[in-house]
Amino acid sequence: MQLRLETLTVHSRHPFRIAHGTKQEYANTLVRIEHDGLEGLGEASPSHYYGETPEMVAEALKTWAPHLGNDPFAFDEIDARLDSVLQGHGAARAALEMALHDWVGKKLGVPVWKLLGLDRSRTPLSCMTLGMADPDEMERKLDEILDFPMIKVKLGGPGDIENLRRIRARYRGKLQVDANTAWTPSDAVRALRAIEPLGIELVEQPVPRGDLDGLKFVRERSPIPVFADESAHHLSDIGLLAGRVDGINLKIMKTGGIREMRRMIHAARAHGMQVMLGSMIETSLGLSAAAQLAPLADYLDLDGHWLLADDPFDGAPREKGVIALSDAPGLGVKWREGARPA
Ligand code: MG
Repeated sequence: MQLRLETLTVHSRHPFRIAHGTKQEYANTLVRIEHDGLEGLGEASPSHYYGETPEMVAEALKTWAPHLGNDPFAFDEIDARLDSVLQGHGAARAALEMALHDWVGKKLGVPVWKLLGLDRSRTPLSCMTLGMADPDEMERKLDEILDFPMIKVKLGGPGDIENLRRIRARYRGKLQVDANTAWTPSDAVRALRAIEPLGIELVEQPVPRGDLDGLKFVRERSPIPVFADESAHHLSDIGLLAGRVDGINLKIMKTGGIREMRRMIHAARAHGMQVMLGSMIETSLGLSAAAQLAPLADYLDLDGHWLLADDPFDGAPREKGVIALSDAPGLGVKWREGARPA
């Protein structure tokens, strides 16, 4: 197998502000695996929060490239070889693993969700994320997404609860909130009690990543179900979160691939937790890899193709909130006209 890397620079339509910081340009990495006349595509969206950079992604992929071997179907053997030279690096590993799935699906002529035996009619609707903004900006952003069935609002900044009240006054659909670790446990309980009358479906990551007892404290007092996102990184986190949260938000860039994400979904189910599948700022390529497991989820936050100004890939559904799994082989992603690099 031959592996090639390219920088995939994309921009969000608006500066995207959450409790961790603000960004508008994202240096993702495109991975192309060629074998037997076919090409599989993957994408890495390195997470600054988890200490990843584009340079680290490139370095990890170059380290792994000589160990890919010549059988794209041999996922377990490939995993073992890659782990023997370098572990971790979730985003880089996810890109590689999704390119292998794309290749295998194309080789067999079937979409990955079908290869996994899933029922696409069970795919839930996806929410649309509303980043932090001052009141005027928030009103303008809300105008663009009023007809989405579900919105996730980023909280954890000044004026956030007032903003949420303004949103609820205009928006009739389902509302979720995400504090991205911004609150202390007692602040979280106060905030959640204050927003309960607005009809909030769930709250994501109210307290810092490592504060597992804080999550439990909030869950025991919150009138709104509590989900872990930043605290749910590895398979081994699931057992630690059991009994402390109502659900988890999994992202392919955290888990390192489709197969590990599926293991985490089943582990969470075994502990009675609900499952959301989310994303970093990714193009339709990374999103469609996560979407292949969407029929296993209770909630989806796969909205990147709506947030981006320059998604080079096509095939994502245009119906708002709908993640439609296609019959196209592999990950079902095509280059948009004129976007394909030489
Ligand atoms: Mg989150």
